[in-house]
Amino acid sequence: MILKFKNYNLSKEVLKAIDRLNYTSPTPVQQKVIPLALKGRDIVVKSQTGSGKTASFAIPICDKVDWDENKAQALVITPTRELAIQVREEFFNIGRFKRLKVSEVYGQFSFRRQQKELKQKTHIVVGTPGRLIDHIERKTIDLSMIKYLVIDEADEMLNMGFIEQIEAIIQNLPKNRITMLLSATIPKDIKNLCKSYMKNYEQIEIEAQNLTVDKITQERYSVEENDKFEFLKDILVVENPDRCMIFCNTKKMVDELCDNLYPWIKSCSKIHGGMEQQDRSLVMNDFRKGKFRHLICTDVAARGIDIEGITHVINYDTPEDKEDYVHRIGRTARASKSGKSITFVTENDIKFIDIIQKYIDKEIEAKQHPDKLTVDERRDDFNTKINTKLNIGPLKSEKVSEGIMKLHINAGKKTKMRPVDIVGTLCNIDGMTAADIGIINIIDVSTFVEILNGKGEMIYNALQGRPIKGRIRKVSKCEQ
Ligand code: AMP
Repeated sequence: MILKFKNYNLSKEVLKAIDRLNYTSPTPVQQKVIPLALKGRDIVVKSQTGSGKTASFAIPICDKVDWDENKAQALVITPTRELAIQVREEFFNIGRFKRLKVSEVYGQFSFRRQQKELKQKTHIVVGTPGRLIDHIERKTIDLSMIKYLVIDEADEMLNMGFIEQIEAIIQNLPKNRITMLLSATIPKDIKNLCKSYMKNYEQIEIEAQNLTVDKITQERYSVEENDKFEFLKDILVVENPDRCMIFCNTKKMVDELCDNLYPWIKSCSKIHGGMEQQDRSLVMNDFRKGKFRHLICTDVAARGIDIEGITHVINYDTPEDKEDYVHRIGRTARASKSGKSITFVTENDIKFIDIIQKYIDKEIEAKQHPDKLTVDERRDDFNTKINTKLNIGPLKSEKVSEGIMKLHINAGKKTKMRPVDIVGTLCNIDGMTAADIGIINIIDVSTFVEILNGKGEMIYNALQGRPIKGRIRKVSKCEQ
């Protein structure tokens, strides 16, 4: 059994990114998917999130994509925008040193901006079904060179009623392509989809180590609906989570809980499907970066979302769907850490808990409320923690981006700037080679260029007095 990425004959750029991401050896799903994908087989993967499945398709695709082709070669469809953002990031990180452009296409975000981005060179497109269909119908996306199609979280697409849209997208793709479908479960409709649109596919099943992951301590408390909020405060004090997700069943409940909790602990924020996409992205980013500790959310934040170091998941409302329970609690105990899930159960919820316990084949331990003395004893520690900045290491994307500086040049398409003008100027600077140039992005009046290998500062200084395409341009550093 191959246990090292270097045995797969991957390009050195992809291997460098994998190394920076600290992926030392392929996970079981990667060991099965990567060799088959590299051989060009259609694949159906039955696997849970958290198994490294995103990289299992991102690694071979990034490796196989032809940098010189200007049109998109891979299309990845995800059910939610949050997942699209996360999957895009994984592709971007893995394709970092191959200088792959990865575009994201999802609703509630400027159509025109996406349209402009899609007009430029792009290698990989990650999107949600509705917005992809919009682009197809308005002919603002060129899918004629797609060689790879990935349908991620297919069972969730089915739950969300997206299957017809997926079929409509597939009708617009070249027939000669490689298709990969990933799903936690393979119900009949998904099987039919595979039979209709995939050729002689390999089916891979990665046994979930255990549906609910042994590393998660699962507890439940009986509560009265009206006492939930006060009880939550006690539980937060006693458990004192480093980072925590608090799930509610409705947007309204998320809003209400956040309004009530915020005056008490400032280190909380919220996310649900009714918020503007920009706000949703901002909140997820801030949570990822550790700017606050408690995220109050609906199930939009449950599927596949991968944030390091979540110590607790609290089901403020018992989920009414057994699979939602598994997805919610799976946000903790990731990357071989342990974690705890706590579910509040009202009398009305007992029927759901029975179904969940049957599904996970395990008892969720019923706990007694902590007494007042215990809560009071722990209050100081809690107050100290919520007033202390969370200390997290560099994000994965930051590790990959080490030694890369992005520069902004004050000239773009309107002054007929072309990549070759930038490459020409840069390669004429002593100590600079084409291999030190990352992604170049030219828009109307601006050009963004990445300088790799720690040479950013030197190039930034050199460009201050050097003409680009015949004129001195204003060059500044961008925030990454
Ligand atoms: P996923 O199942 O795609 O949501 O991935 C779960 C987590 O595993 C993500 O944080 C990945 O960055 C991480 N990951 C993926 N592949 C590897 C690997 N080979 N070694 C260590 N971590 C990995």
